[in-house]
Amino acid sequence: MISIDTLNEIRNITGPEHVLTSPEDLLCYSYDGTFAEHLPDAIVSPGSTEQVSAILKIAHREGVPVIPRGMASGLAAGTVPFGGELVLNLTRMNRILEIDRENMTATAQAGVITSDLAAAVEAEGLFYPPDPASIRQSTLGGNVACNSGGPRCLKYGVTGDYVMALEAVLADGSVLRTGNKCIKNVTGYDLVHLLVGSEGTLAVVTEVTVKLIPKPQAKRTAMAIFADIAAASKAVNDILLSGVLPATLEIVDETAINCVEEYLHLGLDCTADAMLIVETDGTPENAAQEIETVAQVCRQGGAKEVQTARDDAESEDLWKARRSVGPSLGRVRPNKLGEDIVVPRSAIPDMIVRIKEIALSHDLPIVIFGHAGDGNLHPNILFDRRDQGEWDRVEAAVGDLFAGAVELGGTLSGEHGVGMLKRPYLEMAVGPLAVDVMWAIKRALDPKDILNPGKVLPPPGTTDDRAR
Ligand SMILES: Cc1cc2nc3c(=O)[nH]c(=O)nc-3n(C[C@H](O)[C@H](O)[C@H](O)COP(=O)(O)OP(=O)(O)OC[C@H]3O[C@@H](n4cnc5c(N)ncnc54)[C@H](O)[C@@H]3O)c2cc1C
Repeated sequence: MISIDTLNEIRNITGPEHVLTSPEDLLCYSYDGTFAEHLPDAIVSPGSTEQVSAILKIAHREGVPVIPRGMASGLAAGTVPFGGELVLNLTRMNRILEIDRENMTATAQAGVITSDLAAAVEAEGLFYPPDPASIRQSTLGGNVACNSGGPRCLKYGVTGDYVMALEAVLADGSVLRTGNKCIKNVTGYDLVHLLVGSEGTLAVVTEVTVKLIPKPQAKRTAMAIFADIAAASKAVNDILLSGVLPATLEIVDETAINCVEEYLHLGLDCTADAMLIVETDGTPENAAQEIETVAQVCRQGGAKEVQTARDDAESEDLWKARRSVGPSLGRVRPNKLGEDIVVPRSAIPDMIVRIKEIALSHDLPIVIFGHAGDGNLHPNILFDRRDQGEWDRVEAAVGDLFAGAVELGGTLSGEHGVGMLKRPYLEMAVGPLAVDVMWAIKRALDPKDILNPGKVLPPPGTTDDRAR
């Protein structure tokens, strides 16, 4: 419980209108993009780094747990409170501070919506490539905290590949500025990338400087239909070995194809076992030449049909199938749980076989789609949350998915992070020594364990079942 005196002290920092405690407000901040939910004690929305620092000084002194929060689009229950927390809502800090054309960087406050930043730099003829599907409903700070990625990661990398400098407030309220605009920087430990992906457990990110690149002039899209998902997976490798590095290389399985077709009647081939959607970009000549190579490789690899979009409108039509997978799944079962496993690319065919076995053994439909080019698959388990038996089977299936990915040399998450939900599996994925090292870092930066406590790291020596 946060004391009234402490809350009043915080109200004096931000103004009382930026501290919320009514039951309705607490409810609004009780959940993220998962099924987990729990009420926080209070919500504070600071307007500046100075205010974040002052709030953390008080929280540190009083031992109040703090959850940094962007738009709460997270898919790991990373912002869901579990007892007595103060939610630190960063969305008021949403200013783009600078677009530096000469150095090709942008600096923005942590609460800026990522698509706003992307649009602002594109207006300057520059490009910020990280493209989580939640780009319109997530913040730059949240993307940094989760090291988010998206379809373009194959060619362009994830958020962390673009972060050059951070301003972050440490657990005791001190303000750390680390990194700079230099392309090369090997001066001491890389604190920027220690904080990237730390999911609010090591510091509160308040300001981010990202690298920008020239905007590709053109893009081209192709869709290839396969009668056999193993052939589609092999085509993924063949495309990359052909010398083409597509901007995106997505795979959709037959269950997903059927769901989309039933939903939208796009004329998709429902006898297909898998579909690849590939986008190349660069100069108009390069993009066109590369998409032709992709089409040729797919045909040689056994594709039943390959369509190449002639213009942006046709490209949109091809992408519509991929984009509609998520929304179409609700027609099959009322709920879905989207996992985010990642395996080495060569293990994709084996992982797909495993997923199908897991679906059969737990008697649950599992739809497979994802970023085949970087081995990041999103098996979506379809179920009815109201049926406890079904939910129990979902939990067992999730454990099997994680175990399968780890056995094949992969890991739990390529994009969404660990948060609370994957915490029970962290040690299985990284090993006990790595967990000890992570705890040592956590204790060094946050000795009172006030920053997003209970997230990512399993409590030492405990049975970890709190989230389940
Ligand atoms: C429909 C949908 C599609 C999605 N698609 C993708 C995708 O393609 N790729 C992908 O990677 N993710 C995806 N996600 C997951 C999610 O959007 C990302 O993890 C995103 O980066 C979270 O940003 P946010 O601002 O919502 O952060 P939140 O959900 O508010 O927070 C996420 C985590 O980051 C921490 N955090 C937030 N802000 C800060 C800060 N300023 N300082 C320190 N810690 C902070 C929180 O404590 C929490 O642990 C998707 C989610 C949804 C709902």
